[in-house]
Amino acid sequence: MTGNILVFIERREGDVKRPALEALSVARRLAEAGGARLDAVALGSGAAETAGKLGALGADRVLACEAGFLDLYAPEAYAATVAAAAKSADAAVVLAAATSMGRDLAPRVAAKLGAGMLSEVVELEPGANGGLVAKRPVYSGKAVARVSIAGTPAVATLRPNVFPMGEEQPGRAAEVVEIEPGIPEDRVRARVVRLEKAAEQELDVAEASIVVSGGRGLKGPENFALIRELASALGGAVGASRAVVDAGWIAHAHQVGQTGKVVSPDLYVACGISGAIQHLAGMSSSKVIVAINKDPEAPIFKVASYGIVGDLFDVVPKLTEEVRKLKA
Ligand code: FAD
Repeated sequence: MTGNILVFIERREGDVKRPALEALSVARRLAEAGGARLDAVALGSGAAETAGKLGALGADRVLACEAGFLDLYAPEAYAATVAAAAKSADAAVVLAAATSMGRDLAPRVAAKLGAGMLSEVVELEPGANGGLVAKRPVYSGKAVARVSIAGTPAVATLRPNVFPMGEEQPGRAAEVVEIEPGIPEDRVRARVVRLEKAAEQELDVAEASIVVSGGRGLKGPENFALIRELASALGGAVGASRAVVDAGWIAHAHQVGQTGKVVSPDLYVACGISGAIQHLAGMSSSKVIVAINKDPEAPIFKVASYGIVGDLFDVVPKLTEEVRKLKA
C-alpha cells in the first residue's frame, strides 16, 4: 500500500468513543502490513489530549483541530476538516466507525477525496494492488458480500463491536500536529447545537458488549423492569423490538433491527421476541445469542446459540438471581 492510514476519532464530551478505538486497532494492523504511518484525526476542544491514549493504542500522530465550533458534530465542517487532514497526511485509507456520526461523515469525506467507499464492514484486509478488500452483511444480514476497492484513496466504516480493541502499549506516544478547520465557522450551515441525554443514564445498545432485549412477550411496559434488572445484573444495555417501541413501551433509542440500531455484542439475550427478519437484521451478528420464548417454533431459536423454551416471567427473574449470585 502506498500512502498512510488515517482514522477519524469520534468523541463525546471529550471522551474517545470505543468504536473509534476499534477502528484504530484495525488501522494499526493495516499500517503494519503496508509499512505505513498511522494518523488519527480528532476534532474540537481538547483534541490534542487524546494523544496519550491514541499513541498507546498505535497512532503515530494525532492531527488535532482544537476549534471550539467543532465540539459538536457539524457535517460540512467535519467532512472538510477530515478530508483536508487526509490530503495533508497523504492518506491512502481513511477509516471511521459505523456509528450514526461515522455513517454520516465517511461518505462526505469519500466524495471530497474522490475515493471509493465501503460501508459497515465486518472484515477488512489490504487489497492485492493497494485499496481494500472487505466483507459486509447485505439483505438485512441474510448474506455477506465480499467487496473491494481497487485503488486509493479508499474510505471504509467499520461496524462497532465486531473488531477487537488492540492492547495498549504504555509509554508509547503519538506526536501531536495541530491542524486548522477545513472551513471557517461562518460557512457552517448545519450543526448539532446541543446533546440531550435520555433521562435515565443508560448504556447505548449499539456500544454495549451485553444487550438484554424485550419484545411483545412482556405484555406491557411495566414489565420492562424484568429486562432492566437482568441487564443491570449483567452490566449490559436494554434493547427492544420494534413492536414494543411502536406501542410506546420504551424509547426508539433502544430499538434493535433494520429500522433501529445494529448491534454485535458479545452476548445478546432476547426475551419474548419472535425473531422477525427485521429484528434479526440488527442482532444476528452477536457473538452469543440466548433466546427465551414460550413458543418452541419461534424463528429467534434459528439464530440462537442457547434457547430456553419457557415463560419469560419465570425464566428472567431466575436468571437475574443466578447472575447476581455468581457476581456476589
Ligand atoms: P411478536 O412478533 O409479537 O413476538 C412476541 C414473542 O413473544 C412471540 O414469539 C411469543 O411466543 C413470545 N411470548 C409471548 N409471551 C411470552 C412469555 N410469557 N414468555 C416468553 N415468550 C413469550 N422489528 C424490530 O424488532 N426491529 C426493527 O428494526 C424492525 N424494523 C421493521 C421494518 C419494517 C419495514 C417492517 C415491515 C417491520 C419491522 N419490524 C422491526 C417489525 C417486525 O416485523 C416484527 O413485527 C417485530 O420485530 C415483532 O416484535 P416482537 O418479536 O416483540 O413481537
